Amino acid sequence: MAPDPAPHEDCLFCRIVSGDVPADVVHETPTTVAFRDIEPQAPTHVLVIPRHHQPDAAALAAAEPTVLVDLVAAAASVAAAEGLGDGYRLVLNTGPAAHQTVFHAHLHVLGGRSMGWPPG
Ligand code: AMP
Ligand code: ZN
Repeated sequence: MAPDPAPHEDCLFCRIVSGDVPADVVHETPTTVAFRDIEPQAPTHVLVIPRHHQPDAAALAAAEPTVLVDLVAAAASVAAAEGLGDGYRLVLNTGPAAHQTVFHAHLHVLGGRSMGWPPG
């Protein structure tokens, strides 16, 4: 089995996992942490991240596929707790052209308003 990936000292989300940087944490599991986005784009905007550092969702899928499933399950728990029974959007921005700005994999959970399509 591959060793656990080490936290990256210069990674903002690794520092949220370790507690060095405060965040409004709304849900935790052994493999994931979920916290409110600091710049919400919807009434509910939560980020679900793996505790282990992986640079993006594709790397996470390759290295720890079950944790990608854990992210989606955690997102569903967050959506239920937030009363998003009518639906919610899950977003995995992957790469700079897709507006990924933090290179620690994270799943956006957005809801509480109607979501346009296609996204901008
Ligand atoms: P992305 O553009 O997909 O990489 O998403 C990164 C998200 O992280 C953005 O929506 C930011 O608003 C959010 N963000 C950045 N810093 C923080 C922070 N300290 N706490 C919570 N969310 C953050
Ligand atoms: Zn990280």
